[in-house]
Amino acid sequence: MHPMIKEILISENEIVEKCKELGQKIDQEYQSSQPPLLVALLKGSVPFLSELIKHIKMDVEFDFMDVSSYEGTESIGDIRINKDLDRSIKGVDILLVEDIVDTGRTLKNVKEMLFNKGAASVKVVALLDKPSRRVVEDIHAEYIGFEIPDAFVVGFGLDYNQKYRNLPYIGVLKDECYK
Ligand code: 5GP
Repeated sequence: MHPMIKEILISENEIVEKCKELGQKIDQEYQSSQPPLLVALLKGSVPFLSELIKHIKMDVEFDFMDVSSYEGTESIGDIRINKDLDRSIKGVDILLVEDIVDTGRTLKNVKEMLFNKGAASVKVVALLDKPSRRVVEDIHAEYIGFEIPDAFVVGFGLDYNQKYRNLPYIGVLKDECYK
Protein backbone atom coordinates (compact mmCIF):
# COMPACT_ATOMS: atom_id res chain seq x y z
CA MET A 1 0.00 0.00 0.00
CA HIS A 2 1.21 3.55 -0.76
CA PRO A 3 2.71 5.18 2.38
CA MET A 4 0.34 8.18 2.10
CA ILE A 5 -2.81 6.01 2.02
CA LYS A 6 -4.72 5.61 5.29
CA GLU A 7 -7.29 3.11 4.08
CA ILE A 8 -8.21 1.20 0.92
CA LEU A 9 -11.96 1.54 0.29
CA ILE A 10 -12.18 -0.50 -2.93
CA SER A 11 -9.55 -2.99 -4.07
CA GLU A 12 -8.27 -3.44 -7.62
CA ASN A 13 -9.94 -6.85 -7.78
CA GLU A 14 -13.32 -5.41 -6.75
CA ILE A 15 -13.01 -2.73 -9.44
CA VAL A 16 -12.20 -5.29 -12.16
CA GLU A 17 -15.14 -7.50 -11.11
CA LYS A 18 -17.45 -4.46 -11.13
CA CYS A 19 -16.27 -3.46 -14.60
CA LYS A 20 -17.16 -6.97 -15.84
CA GLU A 21 -20.71 -6.55 -14.46
CA LEU A 22 -21.06 -3.05 -15.91
CA GLY A 23 -19.75 -4.19 -19.31
CA GLN A 24 -22.37 -6.95 -19.46
CA LYS A 25 -25.18 -4.56 -18.48
CA ILE A 26 -24.11 -2.04 -21.11
CA ASP A 27 -23.94 -4.74 -23.82
CA GLN A 28 -27.47 -5.86 -22.90
CA GLU A 29 -28.88 -2.34 -22.78
CA TYR A 30 -27.69 -1.40 -26.27
CA GLN A 31 -28.16 -4.80 -27.96
CA SER A 32 -31.13 -3.66 -30.05
CA SER A 33 -29.67 -0.26 -31.00
CA GLN A 34 -26.44 1.20 -32.38
CA PRO A 35 -23.48 0.90 -29.99
CA PRO A 36 -23.01 4.18 -28.08
CA LEU A 37 -20.00 6.50 -28.43
CA LEU A 38 -18.16 6.42 -25.12
CA VAL A 39 -17.17 9.93 -24.05
CA ALA A 40 -14.64 9.89 -21.22
CA LEU A 41 -13.83 12.94 -19.15
CA LEU A 42 -10.08 13.56 -18.79
CA LYS A 43 -8.12 12.82 -16.81
CA GLY A 44 -9.85 11.01 -13.96
CA SER A 45 -11.90 8.53 -15.98
CA VAL A 46 -9.01 7.13 -18.11
CA PRO A 47 -8.20 4.10 -15.91
CA PHE A 48 -11.94 3.34 -15.55
CA LEU A 49 -12.51 3.63 -19.31
CA SER A 50 -9.51 1.37 -19.97
CA GLU A 51 -10.82 -1.35 -17.65
CA LEU A 52 -14.47 -1.00 -18.68
CA ILE A 53 -13.95 -1.31 -22.45
CA LYS A 54 -12.21 -4.67 -21.98
CA HIS A 55 -15.58 -6.02 -20.82
CA ILE A 56 -17.81 -4.47 -23.48
CA LYS A 57 -18.32 -6.86 -26.40
CA MET A 58 -20.00 -4.43 -28.86
CA ASP A 59 -17.77 -2.52 -31.28
CA VAL A 60 -17.62 0.74 -29.37
CA GLU A 61 -15.65 3.86 -30.22
CA PHE A 62 -14.50 6.40 -27.65
CA ASP A 63 -13.56 10.06 -27.50
CA PHE A 64 -12.35 12.42 -24.78
CA MET A 65 -13.37 15.75 -23.34
CA ASP A 66 -11.46 17.74 -20.77
CA VAL A 67 -13.51 20.04 -18.60
CA SER A 68 -12.44 21.54 -15.32
CA SER A 69 -14.74 22.29 -12.45
CA TYR A 70 -12.77 21.11 -9.48
CA GLU A 71 -9.82 22.52 -7.56
CA GLY A 72 -8.38 21.15 -4.34
CA THR A 73 -11.16 19.26 -2.60
CA GLU A 74 -14.20 21.47 -3.22
CA SER A 75 -16.35 21.79 -6.34
CA ILE A 76 -16.56 25.22 -7.93
CA GLY A 77 -19.41 26.52 -10.07
CA ASP A 78 -19.12 26.51 -13.87
CA ILE A 79 -17.03 24.27 -16.07
CA ARG A 80 -14.40 25.28 -18.61
CA ILE A 81 -13.77 23.23 -21.77
CA ASN A 82 -10.04 22.51 -22.11
CA LYS A 83 -10.43 19.88 -24.82
CA ASP A 84 -13.52 19.33 -26.93
CA LEU A 85 -14.65 16.18 -28.77
CA ASP A 86 -12.83 15.34 -32.02
CA ARG A 87 -15.99 14.43 -33.94
CA SER A 88 -19.58 15.47 -34.50
CA ILE A 89 -22.10 13.74 -32.25
CA LYS A 90 -25.29 14.77 -34.08
CA GLY A 91 -27.82 11.96 -33.69
CA VAL A 92 -25.35 9.80 -31.76
CA ASP A 93 -26.13 7.88 -28.55
CA ILE A 94 -23.56 8.88 -25.95
CA LEU A 95 -22.38 6.95 -22.95
CA LEU A 96 -20.54 9.40 -20.73
CA VAL A 97 -17.80 7.78 -18.65
CA GLU A 98 -17.15 9.50 -15.32
CA ASP A 99 -14.82 8.70 -12.46
CA ILE A 100 -17.09 10.02 -9.70
CA VAL A 101 -20.38 11.87 -9.33
CA ASP A 102 -20.13 14.24 -6.39
CA THR A 103 -22.26 17.42 -6.39
CA GLY A 104 -23.54 16.49 -9.88
CA ARG A 105 -22.61 19.88 -11.36
CA THR A 106 -20.07 18.51 -13.84
CA LEU A 107 -22.52 15.90 -15.07
CA LYS A 108 -25.33 18.40 -15.46
CA ASN A 109 -23.16 20.83 -17.44
CA VAL A 110 -21.57 18.18 -19.64
CA LYS A 111 -24.91 16.47 -20.37
CA GLU A 112 -26.40 19.83 -21.40
CA MET A 113 -23.41 20.50 -23.62
CA LEU A 114 -23.72 17.10 -25.31
CA PHE A 115 -27.43 17.62 -26.00
CA ASN A 116 -26.63 21.08 -27.40
CA LYS A 117 -24.21 19.40 -29.79
CA GLY A 118 -27.11 17.22 -31.01
CA ALA A 119 -26.60 13.95 -29.12
CA ALA A 120 -29.60 11.61 -29.55
CA SER A 121 -29.27 10.32 -26.00
CA VAL A 122 -26.86 10.66 -23.11
CA LYS A 123 -26.44 7.96 -20.47
CA VAL A 124 -23.82 7.95 -17.77
CA VAL A 125 -21.59 5.26 -16.34
CA ALA A 126 -19.72 6.31 -13.20
CA LEU A 127 -17.22 4.26 -11.23
CA LEU A 128 -18.15 6.01 -7.97
CA ASP A 129 -21.15 7.89 -6.65
CA LYS A 130 -21.31 10.07 -3.54
CA PRO A 131 -25.10 10.62 -3.30
CA SER A 132 -24.86 12.39 0.06
CA ARG A 133 -22.97 15.28 -1.59
CA ARG A 134 -25.45 15.91 -4.42
CA VAL A 135 -26.59 19.51 -4.92
CA VAL A 136 -28.11 19.00 -8.39
CA GLU A 137 -31.15 16.92 -7.52
CA ASP A 138 -32.26 15.56 -10.89
CA ILE A 139 -28.85 14.20 -11.89
CA HIS A 140 -27.89 10.54 -11.67
CA ALA A 141 -25.77 7.95 -13.46
CA GLU A 142 -27.63 5.08 -15.14
CA TYR A 143 -24.77 2.71 -14.29
CA ILE A 144 -22.87 3.03 -11.02
CA GLY A 145 -19.90 0.99 -9.85
CA PHE A 146 -19.87 1.79 -6.15
CA GLU A 147 -21.71 4.16 -3.82
CA ILE A 148 -19.26 5.64 -1.33
CA PRO A 149 -19.67 7.79 1.79
CA ASP A 150 -18.71 11.48 1.93
CA ALA A 151 -14.92 11.08 1.91
CA PHE A 152 -12.32 12.54 -0.44
CA VAL A 153 -10.87 9.56 -2.30
CA VAL A 154 -7.89 9.05 -4.61
CA GLY A 155 -6.62 6.34 -6.93
CA PHE A 156 -7.78 4.59 -10.10
CA GLY A 157 -7.70 7.95 -11.91
CA LEU A 158 -8.71 10.19 -9.02
CA ASP A 159 -6.10 12.69 -7.89
CA TYR A 160 -5.13 15.05 -5.14
CA ASN A 161 -3.23 17.93 -6.77
CA GLN A 162 -2.61 15.67 -9.81
CA LYS A 163 -1.02 12.87 -7.75
CA TYR A 164 -2.17 9.34 -6.86
CA ARG A 165 -4.06 8.79 -10.15
CA ASN A 166 -1.91 5.71 -10.82
CA LEU A 167 -2.88 3.82 -7.66
CA PRO A 168 -4.70 0.62 -8.73
CA TYR A 169 -7.29 0.95 -5.92
CA ILE A 170 -9.57 3.60 -4.38
CA GLY A 171 -8.28 4.88 -1.06
CA VAL A 172 -8.33 7.67 1.48
CA LEU A 173 -5.22 9.78 2.12
CA LYS A 174 -3.62 10.24 5.53
CA ASP A 175 -4.53 13.56 7.19
CA GLU A 176 -0.89 14.73 6.97
CA CYS A 177 -1.22 14.99 3.16
CA TYR A 178 -3.54 17.97 3.54
CA LYS A 179 -1.17 19.95 5.76
P1 5GP B 1 -19.05 17.24 -9.27
O1 5GP B 1 -19.18 18.22 -10.37
O2 5GP B 1 -19.99 16.07 -9.35
O3 5GP B 1 -19.09 17.90 -7.93
O4 5GP B 1 -17.59 16.73 -9.32
C1 5GP B 1 -17.14 15.78 -10.18
C2 5GP B 1 -15.64 15.82 -10.24
O5 5GP B 1 -15.06 16.24 -9.00
C3 5GP B 1 -15.09 14.44 -10.49
O6 5GP B 1 -14.99 14.17 -11.87
C4 5GP B 1 -13.73 14.50 -9.80
O7 5GP B 1 -12.77 15.00 -10.70
C5 5GP B 1 -13.93 15.49 -8.69
N1 5GP B 1 -14.17 14.81 -7.40
C6 5GP B 1 -15.33 14.70 -6.73
N2 5GP B 1 -15.18 13.99 -5.61
C7 5GP B 1 -13.87 13.63 -5.57
C8 5GP B 1 -13.10 12.84 -4.66
O8 5GP B 1 -13.53 12.31 -3.63
N3 5GP B 1 -11.78 12.69 -4.98
C9 5GP B 1 -11.21 13.24 -6.07
N4 5GP B 1 -9.92 13.02 -6.26
N5 5GP B 1 -11.92 13.97 -6.96
C10 5GP B 1 -13.24 14.16 -6.70
